[in-house]
Amino acid sequence: MLNFAVGPVMSSAEVCAVGGEQVPYFRTDEFSAIMKDNERMLCDLAHAPAGSRAVFLTCSGTGAMEAVIMNTLSADDHALVIDGGSFGHRFRQMLELHGIPHDAVEVERGHGITAADLEPFEDAGITAFLVNLGETSTGVLYDLDTIAAFCKRTGAFLIVDGISSFLTDELDMAASGTAVMITDSQKALAVAPGIAPVVLAPAALERIERAEPGCMYFDLKDALKNGERGQTPFTPAVNTLRQLHVRMSQIEADGGAEAEIARVHAQAQDFRDRIADLPFTLFSQAPQNAVTSLSVAPGANAHDIFVELKDHYDIWVCPNGGDMATKVFRVGHMGALTSADNETLVAALRELQKKGMLG
Ligand SMILES: *Cc1c(COP(=O)(O)O)cnc(C)c1O
Repeated sequence: MLNFAVGPVMSSAEVCAVGGEQVPYFRTDEFSAIMKDNERMLCDLAHAPAGSRAVFLTCSGTGAMEAVIMNTLSADDHALVIDGGSFGHRFRQMLELHGIPHDAVEVERGHGITAADLEPFEDAGITAFLVNLGETSTGVLYDLDTIAAFCKRTGAFLIVDGISSFLTDELDMAASGTAVMITDSQKALAVAPGIAPVVLAPAALERIERAEPGCMYFDLKDALKNGERGQTPFTPAVNTLRQLHVRMSQIEADGGAEAEIARVHAQAQDFRDRIADLPFTLFSQAPQNAVTSLSVAPGANAHDIFVELKDHYDIWVCPNGGDMATKVFRVGHMGALTSADNETLVAALRELQKKGMLG
């Protein structure tokens, strides 16, 4: 199988080997040492400011998004959320569900944001800002500098869903003043699903200390307290955490976050160069490195392309949902993919073109 989906993604042979091992008992000094190392490596890779902590929640990224809202925001906040795709919309629905007063910046699908989009909220008493830095559903990267400047001026608490932008585009928590960075094990971290790591700067730790999240499983105070001894309150996805240790150690050895970002960028650029003469147009006006979203030509059906590649070539791209289902498909660049893999995919797309499937 050749997997260009946006998660789960291809894992290295070393990571796959750990996934095939028996799952060890975890209330041990050995596992605690792995977890303490994981926390240090994750904070380093995210350029978290001094005094930051990280927790590793056993859930998918959506669980971590909700845990962060429950543990750092309250009815006393006035949040601003960017809604330009399905993940931004999910944040917005959670704010609604949890009774957090909020406004939304509605962005046309496929477009980024500018300072002018935030202008109307300068004096609106915004206390928290939520953004999916990479809106993976459309392949858009929002401008972190514009958002960080807004948050610095207004004092807003910045929550970044970095699930598809951490390790694929620049995301420096200290430089941007990001208080919370949420990620996920099966995106650029390229291991099995099951763990959503969250990095918490001191401003977030303060809010968590005061919070009354009203739930037990996602009480981050409890997760932080257990983390002090390298443990989790409940049984975690043990082998996914062991895979993360292997993977982050490898990223560190290969030059850290910047080297990984450069690698994903090159992988994306290589793909975009190879398809320049195919009848697709880039859907995203502000493309992120993690994924290329492609609009198909009139007469072509994006979902049929996805099915044909899967069934006849054992190649997986990523379909879209909703009203984009037949018009747009996505090609991921995260994980253990190479330029030769791009070549294989593009050769298959050229065969589909000969069959008349590209319009
Ligand atoms: C994948 C992803 C998520 C989380 O999706 P899950 O299905 O919960 O893993 C959230 N935000 C973004 C930007 C994503 O790419």
